[in-house]
Amino acid sequence: MGTDMTVLSTRRLTKRYGRGAGQVLAVDSVDLEVPPGQSLAITGPSGCGKSTLLHLLGGLQEPDEGEVWLAGQRIDTMSERALARLRRDRVGFVFQAFHLMDELTAVENVELAALLAGRSPGRARRRSLELLDRVGLADRAKHLPSALSGGQRQRVAIARALANEPLVVLADEPTGNLDSESTLDVLRLFEELRAAGQTLVVVTHDMRIAAVADRMIAMRDGVLGAGAQFAGTIYDGRR
Ligand code: ADP
Repeated sequence: MGTDMTVLSTRRLTKRYGRGAGQVLAVDSVDLEVPPGQSLAITGPSGCGKSTLLHLLGGLQEPDEGEVWLAGQRIDTMSERALARLRRDRVGFVFQAFHLMDELTAVENVELAALLAGRSPGRARRRSLELLDRVGLADRAKHLPSALSGGQRQRVAIARALANEPLVVLADEPTGNLDSESTLDVLRLFEELRAAGQTLVVVTHDMRIAAVADRMIAMRDGVLGAGAQFAGTIYDGRR
């Protein structure tokens, strides 16, 4: 059951790919609870199921079994339309490949998300400029993504993820495409989000990101932080 205290939770969440002998159990009966204000990092090697789990948490993929609760609602049984609305209004996504609209400027990319989430044009514009300022890109507002570095694009994408004042930000390997300097910029932003009490789930193989989260869970072969191989790799609670 989702409770008021939990922004996001799963119950025996399971996702398989393929069938027969070649079947992959990507997410294996995962139970997870993310309370409001927590920043959670899920780490693990490539192929352990991190992306699949994040997609399931955000309703971007459908599980084979189990439940996902987001904002007090069970989303795995929701219609695609209701789910799209919930994502648009309550969730901020950050992807490794940024997924900005190439033909829109930085500020327009952020603004579009605010408009889609129902903000008035004036408010959407103001909020977008504020967010770009917050990610250190006030002077790049009118630039197209093609005129920005990878790190700058990801900072625009983070501003966009915040445009709807999301209940939770879900980030999939947000520094995966970045050089080390840009990675530090993104780390600083995640640290700021954590300090501001933004509920956040980030999946990454980068332990530096995990180090700025409140809580870290190791994932291995579709399973979250359990078993002897995880000994000493789980910590919990605010620093
Ligand atoms: P991670 O994000 O940790 O790299 P993924 O969630 O991408 O892990 O993948 C988990 C497992 O599922 C891997 O074995 C991967 O090869 C497999 N997998 C992921 N997506 C698909 C897909 N669309 N079809 C088949 N297998 C997939």
